[in-house]
Amino acid sequence: MIGRFDDLPLAPLQPLPFDWLRRHGVELAVLRLDLIDPLISGNKWFKLLEHLRVAQAQGAPGVISLGGAHSNHLHALASAGKRFGFATVGLLRGHAQDTPTVRDLQAFGMQLHWLGYGGYRERHQPGFWQPWQALYPGWHCVAEGGGGPLGAKGCGLIVEQAQAQLAALGWAEYHGWWLAAGTGTTLAGMVLAEAGRHEVHGALAVPLDHGVPEAVQALVGTAGYHLHEACRGGFGKVDDELLAFMAECEAQAAMPLEPLYTAKALLALRREVEAGAFGPGTRLIFLHSGGLQGRRGFA
Ligand SMILES: *Cc1c(COP(=O)(O)O)cnc(C)c1O
Repeated sequence: MIGRFDDLPLAPLQPLPFDWLRRHGVELAVLRLDLIDPLISGNKWFKLLEHLRVAQAQGAPGVISLGGAHSNHLHALASAGKRFGFATVGLLRGHAQDTPTVRDLQAFGMQLHWLGYGGYRERHQPGFWQPWQALYPGWHCVAEGGGGPLGAKGCGLIVEQAQAQLAALGWAEYHGWWLAAGTGTTLAGMVLAEAGRHEVHGALAVPLDHGVPEAVQALVGTAGYHLHEACRGGFGKVDDELLAFMAECEAQAAMPLEPLYTAKALLALRREVEAGAFGPGTRLIFLHSGGLQGRRGFA
């Protein structure tokens, strides 16, 4: 049974000091989801919140989900299970691998099943969950990455956490959000929470033709957000300019980034700021969506 789980601290909101912002009169603060907990990190925790509420209400014995051998989502689920004392099962893509993430999942007590590549490809088929529901009766099943309407709903809390800290930052107001988008679920949840009050900018970690615009539109319609190309040749593609930018940001702001989502998003923001997309006096909030545990796979 799932007990209390929603007492994690606020993600801190901090000013960012980069020269490229100052030159264009743009102010940027970062909401550090990477700092909410030593183990449970990032937007994946917010995407899980409503799933855990449903599982708790249904008296589910545990939670099952799926992902790859570096999955930030499975990592957040397994560490939440350990922290809050509920059972977790992970269905993994491919064949048994030893990665830092997989070692953590095991240490957190997550039961792992390797589905192979073919088995994992079946995950969107109607009968996919049946054998797992038979093996784990009454468990709550979460789709890959925690996507969909329940995942989006939990991300509304991200907006609340930032707004609760604006005064402490000395900001009366802000003009918009800038964040990385993978499936676009986090962005969709923030668009819903903002309800048109502030623009939400999503920097795409995947190519524009990978279905994200359609998925976001299905969740929230067409208003209140903009999607920007940011993947630099494909999901997971890393280049020298990106790595140099990442190192420079880390040195200037004492803020660790990872190359797949947060560094690409911030580099895309610099491109827009330098192109004059935001006028002087614009105040933006960059979402640090976490994911640092997955960076170990890149070393
Ligand atoms: C998963 C992930 C994202 C993308 O979130 P979506 O809700 O799929 O758009 C962004 N940043 C990090 C660090 C992630 O792990």
